[in-house]
Amino acid sequence: MKPKVFLADLRYNYLGVLANDTAPLGVGYMKAVMDRDLPGEIDSRLFAYPDKLLAAMKETPPEVLMVSDYCWNEQLSLFFCRLAKRLNPGTLTVMGGPNMSLELTRQVAFFEEHPELDVFILGEGDFLARDTVKAYLNAGCSLGEFRKAELFSSLYRGPEGQILRNETWPRYDKVDEIPSPYLSGIMDEFFDGRLTPMIETNRGCPFSCTFCCQGTRWYTKVHYFGIERLRDEIHYIAKKVHQLCPQVGAFRIADSNYGMYERDIEISRYIGETQKLYGYPTYIDATTGKNRPERIIKSLEQVNGALVLYQAVQSLDENVLRNVKRQTIKLEAYEQLQVHMRGRGLALLSRCC
Ligand code: SF4
Repeated sequence: MKPKVFLADLRYNYLGVLANDTAPLGVGYMKAVMDRDLPGEIDSRLFAYPDKLLAAMKETPPEVLMVSDYCWNEQLSLFFCRLAKRLNPGTLTVMGGPNMSLELTRQVAFFEEHPELDVFILGEGDFLARDTVKAYLNAGCSLGEFRKAELFSSLYRGPEGQILRNETWPRYDKVDEIPSPYLSGIMDEFFDGRLTPMIETNRGCPFSCTFCCQGTRWYTKVHYFGIERLRDEIHYIAKKVHQLCPQVGAFRIADSNYGMYERDIEISRYIGETQKLYGYPTYIDATTGKNRPERIIKSLEQVNGALVLYQAVQSLDENVLRNVKRQTIKLEAYEQLQVHMRGRGLALLSRCC
């Protein structure tokens, strides 16, 4: 029997209303890397729904449970780590995500408070999740042996249970080395009519907002996924929605500043193509760019008004904007976009980013 690795990006379910309806892209990337790099060595599965994870864990507790850490699911993820330890104390529990503090003392305090966690991965987990599983396999799937190994870019427990930490690694710039979880088919089960497909066309944000985890220097550089891969993903998703869940109209783009880069016009054009072919998407949820309104307008024109424009204005006070380091975001850009959108009767909403 191959060791079971469960990767879960959970969300609360309030009597059928999901607190977050986004397809679990982050853990999808991790599984895609593991499927490619650890073929035949593990049996990995993705989970988005707590009830399905609960049933699967009760049927056969996994050897490894990996959970995401966002502000909207941290307690739920920790609950499942505690459950995993109750069902099998030898289960390796791993958490990772952006809800971890950037401060060393707070990181350690969090890890101390949660003995149900064996590892907290710091930074991007696409490849580190694979490395952690590999270290576990090399340890003969023994948690005791695993604790003798050194883990990088992580908080973890040593052989005596002591807390160890290795510095967060720099971000990996060759994002195309992560196989597409859509094109490899592993996201197919999430075209279930309840979740919204999401892609990421780039990672990183050039702005430095002091209140945001992406405002740190670590996130500044923008790494782009290949344009052909994105075209294939957009077409794949639209076709799947058309075949499996035509009631879904929404499409999500995870970027921090969609529309701000020249190539986003091309990406929007691909979305316009799928609208003609499959009638999808009818609504695009993306955090749009803060500058370069002329490019954003061109993107909007490609998608028949489906892209809702979000304007994030924390304050109109120049002093406040300077203090939170948003002075580089030009208010004139907002005005220009408002005139364009209102003139065409298109949606314009406000958002925090
Ligand atoms: S709030 Fe938005 S624009 Fe500012 S750093 Fe974060 S992601 Fe970038």
